[in-house]
Amino acid sequence: MLRQVAEGALIHESEFMQSNAVVVQGRAGVLLIDPGVTGDEIACLANDLRELGQPVVAGFSTHPHWDHLLWHAALGAAPRYGTAHGAATVRARLSDAGAKARVAALMPPDIAEQVPLDLLGLITGLPAETARIPWDGPRVRIIEHQAHAPGHAALLIEERGVLVAGDMLSDVLIPMLDLNDTVDPIEDYLSALRLLERVAGDVDVFIPGHGSVGGADQISARIEQDRAYVHAPRARAKKLFTTLRV
Ligand SMILES: [Zn+2]
Repeated sequence: MLRQVAEGALIHESEFMQSNAVVVQGRAGVLLIDPGVTGDEIACLANDLRELGQPVVAGFSTHPHWDHLLWHAALGAAPRYGTAHGAATVRARLSDAGAKARVAALMPPDIAEQVPLDLLGLITGLPAETARIPWDGPRVRIIEHQAHAPGHAALLIEERGVLVAGDMLSDVLIPMLDLNDTVDPIEDYLSALRLLERVAGDVDVFIPGHGSVGGADQISARIEQDRAYVHAPRARAKKLFTTLRV
């Protein structure tokens, strides 16, 4: 069931880790961000959109993790985008024949059989430095940063004051650092939080990829909470380092 969270912005919540699919209404149809997880849920979302007379005209995946890269034939064949870095990561990780089996093995077994993998990860990378998603609707600013996953992007729907945070700012998941492609994942995460903090004053509603939607009065606390969590291992590492040196 679609739930409106701001003017022209709706979410569809999955039972899997409280994942939020986000629908942004445009002139001739909707932009669909991170469509959801199980086949039934995504088909239900497609059906809701059909009843509203709102075809999907563009898709976006906030980052290259499987639960944000799914699609369903019932959503149609709109272009699906991600950042260039995110799309390149998808290509590198999913291009071999065993990729889908590997992805399925990452899922809880009861979920794995319900997740449609046919159209997994078929996203087009927008050239680096692309400021906004190319589509016929409200301006959606891409706030790319290096945290949680390569080419992770938050999206700011400027005139509606809505921040789609991807897997940042969740109240159900702890901050998960991307340890694979970076020398300093902690600093990466902290600088990503600073980027989000810089736009926080323009945000009336923020939508994490998993968990509860928050309002303008909650965003600073959510950023602060993640920052404190990320600082903690750094403090532990420093202590360990000092101990080793003595
Ligand atoms: Zn996720």
